[in-house]
Amino acid sequence: MTGKALVVGGGIAGLSCAWGLRKRGWEVELFEQGPLPNPKASSYDEHRITRHAYGKMSGYARLMPEAFRTWDRLWADIGTSHYEPTGAVYVLRHDNGWYDATVASLNELGIGYRDLPLSDLSTRFPMLNPVGVERVVETSGAGMLFPIRIMTDMVVLLGRLGVGLHACTKVTEVDPDRGTLVADGKTWSGDVVVVAAGAWADRLEPSIKGISVPSRQAVLYLSPPTDLAAAWAAAPVLLDQAAGGGIYILPPRRGTRLKVGDHVFSRRGDADADRTATEEDLARLWPTLRNAFLGMDRYAVLEPKACYYTVTEDERFLVKPTGAAGWVISACSGHGFKLGSLIGDGVAAAIAGERPGEDISAWAAGETVPEPAEA
Ligand SMILES: Cc1cc2nc3c(=O)[nH]c(=O)nc-3n(C[C@H](O)[C@H](O)[C@H](O)COP(=O)(O)OP(=O)(O)OC[C@H]3O[C@@H](n4cnc5c(N)ncnc54)[C@H](O)[C@@H]3O)c2cc1C
Repeated sequence: MTGKALVVGGGIAGLSCAWGLRKRGWEVELFEQGPLPNPKASSYDEHRITRHAYGKMSGYARLMPEAFRTWDRLWADIGTSHYEPTGAVYVLRHDNGWYDATVASLNELGIGYRDLPLSDLSTRFPMLNPVGVERVVETSGAGMLFPIRIMTDMVVLLGRLGVGLHACTKVTEVDPDRGTLVADGKTWSGDVVVVAAGAWADRLEPSIKGISVPSRQAVLYLSPPTDLAAAWAAAPVLLDQAAGGGIYILPPRRGTRLKVGDHVFSRRGDADADRTATEEDLARLWPTLRNAFLGMDRYAVLEPKACYYTVTEDERFLVKPTGAAGWVISACSGHGFKLGSLIGDGVAAAIAGERPGEDISAWAAGETVPEPAEA
C-alpha cells in the first residue's frame, strides 16, 4: 500500500520513519520546527551508545541484532558508516543484579563478554578510580553512533529521495482521524500523519501526556589532562556503576569530545528551555564523576549541556496508532537513539501494511520476540 504521509519531527524517529516510508514508495512531507537537523532535538549530539547488553529488559536485547542491521542498511543508503565498534566495559562498584540478567541475554544472542582481572584495571584505564571496584566486564557488540553526522546525512538522503523537507516549520495542530496537520497556518492533508516530536510530542498528542514525560538531563564535555589523552583515545565506551548511581562515558573518537552523563531521570523541565546545564542540573553528576575518575580537577570542562528526552515509567518506547490515520512515536529515555532507525522503519512497515499495526506497540515496547534473523 502506498499513499501520502505527513511526518512531524526531524529527530532520529521522524527521519527514520520518513526514510522507511519513502523507500516503500510513499510520498512524504516532513515538518521540523527548527533547522534540519535541529540542535534542540534529543537526537542531536556528537555520540550515542549502542549495545546489546540490556539488563533485565531482555526484549530490547533481542531487538538489537535487527537494530544493528537497520543501521547497516542506512549506511548503505547514505554511502558511509557512522558507527565505531569500540566494545563496552562495565566497571561495577556494586551488584544490583544487572550483570546476571545481561549475561543471560548475551548468551542467548551469542555476543561475547569476559571478566577483566581487577589487577589490570589501572594499567588499561589509568583514568579510573580503582577503589571500590568489585568487577570489570568487557562486552562485544557495542560502540558509538555519531548522531549529528547521521542526521545530517539522512536529511541529505531524504532530499535526494524526494521527501518534502519543511525546516523551521512548526506544526500547531494534528488531526489523527483525518490525517491532517496545520503548519505555519496552512493545512496539509495526507493518508497518515506521524507525530515523532520528541520531548514536545505530548503537545500534539494529548493521549501521551503524563505517560511519556519530558526529562531534562545533563551531560559534560571534557578535555582530559595531556598525560591521559592517549588512554582516553583508546578507551571503549565505559559504564561505571556505583551504589549511588551510574555514569556513562563516551571516549573521544573520530573527532568527538569526551562526554559523561548519568542515567537518573530528572522527569522535569520544558523542552523549549535553554540547553546550558546549570549547577542544579549537574549537582547529581559531579559526586558520581569524582568517584569514578581519578584527578577529576585536572579535566577542563568544555561544555555543560542540558538535553531532553522523554521517559515512561518503565523506560519502554511508546508507539501507537492514534485515530484512524495517525501514529505517535515516543522514543524513550536514554536508549532511544540506538533503536530509533529500527522503530521508525518498523512504523513505516506497519503504515505500508507490511506488518500488523496492532502488534507494533508491544514490539516497540520490547515485549515481543522479534522475527528470527534472516540467514
Ligand atoms: C543526554 C542524552 C543521552 C542519551 N544517550 C543515549 C545513548 O547513549 N544511546 C541511545 O540509544 N539513546 C540515547 N539517548 C536517547 C536518544 O537520544 C533519544 O531517545 C532519541 O534521540 C529521541 O529521538 P526522537 O526523534 O524521538 O526525538 P528528537 O530527536 O527530540 O526529535 C523530535 C523533533 O521533533 C521536532 N518537533 C517537536 N515539536 C514539533 C512541532 N510542533 N512541529 C515541528 N517539529 C517539531 C523537534 O524540534 C525535534 O527536532 C540520549 C538522550 C539524551 C538527551
